[in-house]
Formats: sequence, C-alpha cells, structure tokens
Amino acid sequence: MSAHVAIIGAGIVGVSTAIWLQRAGCRVTLVEREAAAGEGASYGNGGVLASCAIVPVTVPGLIAKAPGMLLSRDEPLFLKWRYLPRLAPWLRRFLSHANAGDTQRIAAGLAALIGDSLAEHQALAAGTGAERWLVANDYLYLYRDRTEFEAESFAWSLRAAHGIGWDELEGMDFRSFDPVFSPEFAFAIRMGNHGRITDPGAYVKALAAQVVARGGRLIRTEVSDVVQEGGRVTGLRAGGETLPCNGVVLAAGAWSAGLARRMGVRVPLESERGYHLELIEPSFMPRVPVMISAGKFVITPMEGRLRLAGIVEFGGLSAPPSQAPLALLRRHLRQAMPRLRWKAEQSWMGHRPTLPDSLPVIGPVPGLAGAWMAFGHHHIGLTGAARTGRLLAQLIAGQEPDISLAPYSPARFTR
Ligand SMILES: Cc1cc2nc3c(=O)[nH]c(=O)nc-3n(C[C@H](O)[C@H](O)[C@H](O)COP(=O)(O)OP(=O)(O)OC[C@H]3O[C@@H](n4cnc5c(N)ncnc54)[C@H](O)[C@@H]3O)c2cc1C
Repeated sequence: MSAHVAIIGAGIVGVSTAIWLQRAGCRVTLVEREAAAGEGASYGNGGVLASCAIVPVTVPGLIAKAPGMLLSRDEPLFLKWRYLPRLAPWLRRFLSHANAGDTQRIAAGLAALIGDSLAEHQALAAGTGAERWLVANDYLYLYRDRTEFEAESFAWSLRAAHGIGWDELEGMDFRSFDPVFSPEFAFAIRMGNHGRITDPGAYVKALAAQVVARGGRLIRTEVSDVVQEGGRVTGLRAGGETLPCNGVVLAAGAWSAGLARRMGVRVPLESERGYHLELIEPSFMPRVPVMISAGKFVITPMEGRLRLAGIVEFGGLSAPPSQAPLALLRRHLRQAMPRLRWKAEQSWMGHRPTLPDSLPVIGPVPGLAGAWMAFGHHHIGLTGAARTGRLLAQLIAGQEPDISLAPYSPARFTR
C-alpha cells in the first residue's frame, strides 16, 4: 500500500494504530499537540491489561445507587456540581443503559475487543523495544469477605458467561498467596492470563519511537480541522498549515468530539475523570495488580513505585483536579495496606473518553472516504488499544477484520 495515513493523537490507541498500519505497508504520521507521545490518559492509567473488565459502569441498579454514591465521601463516584447542567443530557443517555439487556450487549462487545489483551500487547510490542514494560501476571479482585464478592454476582456471572475463569482465595489461602494486605481483606478472586504495563507513559513513548525508527513521523501540533474534497479526506489543518494525507484516523481520546463533528458525526463523548496516586519507593509491593473492589481502584506494582488508580469524577475537560478523590484513595490504602511506607508521592488526574453506551467507536466515518475513528475506550483503553490498532490497520489495508466491527460503528451516532 502507498497510502499516507495521518493519525490525530499519540496516545496508546493512536500509536498502536500507527504500528499496525506501518506493518501493513502504510506511510504514517502521528500528530500530537503535547511535547511527546503518551501524555494524555495513556500516561497515568492503572497499567492493567484487564481482559476481565467487560462489565460497564452502567450495571443494573446504578440509577438507584448513584444519588447516594454522589453524596457520600466514601464512594468512588464524584461530580463537580457546577458541571451538572452540561452533563445532564449525556448522563440521561448513559444511565439509560443501566439495565440487564444493554449490560449484556455491552459486555459482549467489550469481550470481543479485550478478551485476549495480553497476547495482543505481546504482538504489538514484539520487536519494538517496548516489551520491557510488558509483564504477564494474574489479576486479583480483593474483597473483605465472600458476602462483598457475592454482592457483585451479576458482574461475575457475566464474566463467567464470556469464558473468564478464576480461583477463589479465602482466609489463609489468600494470605499465603500475598501477605501484604490487612487481614480484614480476606477474600480474593484470582484470574490468570492478565498482564500489566510497568510504566504506561514510557511504553507508549517507546512504541512511538519505533514508529519513527521505521520511517514514520511524529509531529507536534494541534489539529484544528480535517480537509475534505469531494467527499474524501485530503489533509489536516494544524497551526495554520495543511498537512496533505490520503487517510486520517481520529484517535484524540477524550478531545475527539470537536474534530468528529468536523467530519460530520456528532459523537456524545464525555470525560470520566480518573485519578492516580503514586507512592515512590514503597516499603513493599503486592505480587500482582489488585483491584480493591469496594473502592473501584487498582493497586499496580510499577517500576520503583506503586500506583493507585481509579475513581470516576464527572466535571468536564477543563476543571482543575479535585482533592476529595485523592483523599479517598489514601483512606482506602490505609485500610488495605496499613503497614506500607513510602518515600514520596505524586498525584495525577486524566480523562477517560466515554460514550453513553460504553463501547468505543472504531471504524470508517460514514460519508467521508479515507476517514476512520478510534476513540471512546473509557476504562479499558490500554487493554483494548493493541487490538483496536490491529483491527483498524486490517480495515484500512482492505482486509476483513477478524471480528465484527458492527458494535463499534461510528454510524450509530448518525442515525
Ligand atoms: C485513572 C485512570 C486509570 C485507568 N486505568 C486503566 C487500566 O488499568 N487499564 C486500561 O486498559 N485502561 C485504563 N484507563 C483508561 C485508559 O487510560 C484510556 O482509555 C486510554 O489511555 C485512552 O487512550 P487514547 O489513546 O484514546 O487517549 P489519550 O491517551 O488521552 O490520547 C489522546 C491524545 O490525543 C491528543 N490530542 C487531543 N486532541 C488533539 C488535537 N486536536 N491535535 C493533536 N493531538 C490531540 C492528546 O494530547 C492525547 O495525547 C485508565 C484511565 C484513567 C484516567
């Protein structure tokens, strides 16, 4: 192929797409407004390749629980109340999916995308130098007791229905697997065939460096428009200049909606703001990443540090970070690992790109030849990016993608 494809956004989704497009024979240019690749959501995530994360936030029962969660300082759901009037129409659509039928449909769509994420990342990183940040491991969900686990039986039955298996570790079985947690946490679910990235920002940068080493370009500029002639893409507008190309992939994460509109698709994209707290040089680390289920955050061993990442806060793209989510992470940490000590802390807030139906958009832009979209991966963007890039490259190279892309079609927002 001699196509020149420009990719807007050098997060994990854009960079993975660039790698797979190069392997398919395309010329690629990554266009990123930040100083380097991997500085958006892809920088600060929990690093977990969470193939089991097929259950969306919008589970049945959420509508009844959400008001109480928003009013409690101990629940992992926050709202910047000033933002509520803007959020309300989107929130209504989001909550309309909190029923069993939609949750099952969403889980099926996510399972097809992320079910084999470890193997997909191994294939993505192979021969790039980025392998050094990729670790195969078990993934644990941690509960105080079996009753707390059973309260999530709907989610676990969905996982089981999609072939996700696990062991139950209770009492001493769990303590002998990993003794670093408080004895108050006495029940864990252990899943094999998962993985983690021990420095997500560095991983994306290494992959982007490989794109450049193979003859691609990484340009620092902010794309303002997509140039179209006769129903086909001919270039990008950025910094008052036109960058000619004959294909474009919009992979600008939570910032994609404006450019999507320029391409004729009104995508209802919202930011699920999330937080991380990093503990530098901790006195010990858990063996594998652990989801503290009550707090909806992960504790992930990373290079020289432990990262606590999670929380959902609605508040839009421009409001500054809040302190309450970080305080909640600290409280949960004290309960789960009371003996832990560390040298220093860093905190971060980032934007998960989320669509009301909790499925990303991956596929061609209706009515605009040479344009594709790849964003909206909410909580599973790191996990699902490797396969997303491979699917898009198949599509752009004219091959049949190896799964149906119907659930992710951008056309669902043009009807
Ligand atoms: C706290 C937290 C924890 C998470 N934990 C996990 C996890 O453990 N596992 C998991 O799978 N996922 C996790 N996620 C989700 C995951 O991080 C995201 O889904 C994923 O990073 C999205 O990748 P992306 O490439 O779409 O977006 P981003 O990484 O945000 O990249 C988009 C890029 O586009 C650039 N851009 C935007 N507009 C323009 C423009 N006009 N011109 C040029 N460049 C532009 C931005 O600067 C940015 O670099 C977590 C997210 C958060 C916030």
